[in-house]
Amino acid sequence: MAVDPLIELHDVNKHFGPLHVLRDINLTVGRGEVVVVIGPSGSGKSTLCRAINRLETVESGTILLEGEPLPAEGKDLARLRADVGMVFQSFNLFAHKTVLANISLAQVKVRGRKREEADQRSRELLDRVGLADQAAKFPAQLSGGQQQRVAIARALAMDPKALLFDEPTSALDPEMINEVLEVMQQLAREGMTMVVVTHEMGFARSAANRVVFMADGRIVEDRTPEQFFTAPESDRAKDFLSKIL
Ligand code: ADP
Ligand code: MG
Repeated sequence: MAVDPLIELHDVNKHFGPLHVLRDINLTVGRGEVVVVIGPSGSGKSTLCRAINRLETVESGTILLEGEPLPAEGKDLARLRADVGMVFQSFNLFAHKTVLANISLAQVKVRGRKREEADQRSRELLDRVGLADQAAKFPAQLSGGQQQRVAIARALAMDPKALLFDEPTSALDPEMINEVLEVMQQLAREGMTMVVVTHEMGFARSAANRVVFMADGRIVEDRTPEQFFTAPESDRAKDFLSKIL
């Protein structure tokens, strides 16, 4: 793939107390690329995602978005989190707001859209994720799969440059996983730049341009899904795959 770097991490390190959770991380995500991050629990996958939109600070190294260092605070930080949207395992919708309001809110606050314009865009996105008839409901009235699709619509409403997904289907009942993965597959096909932490190996095989395997805070492998799944190089990856496949 022609490299037009959208997100770059150079020699990034982070500790939590004595725990070295990100060790010399070097990673480039090209525009339009889908990078799936896998690895054992505690290997640093969530911290990596959170560092990219500055929910965590790092101690050394640099993280660039379109060649620029991440902003540290204020309006620029809010803009960063709109430009690089994040979808969490736990949906994180506003419980006391309707589905429509959940999607419209940041469009008004961060992107400065008029309310009617924001609502119009929210309805288009709800239609796109298959929830056109759910706009007036509250999150608790929806299934987990529906809530996660609302969360994706909310991130998309910011016209993000990239989306980060941290185990977006891990909290879902099995029958709801596919409806969320299908929305993500569609985004991937449309060229959205995505970093996806997931245990869904079918998604990794079909949607990923690259699989990044992490263990103990390090990137141990960074290869195509074909290479990774058919011939993992490291013992850590072989061991991991033998347990989940
Ligand atoms: P993963 O997502 O791969 O399971 P995480 O990035 O969540 O891994 O965590 C990496 C390590 O950092 C784990 O050992 C975890 O317990 C620890 N950790 C994560 N967040 C914090 C925190 N806020 N304070 C202290 N330790 C943390
Ligand atoms: Mg995690």
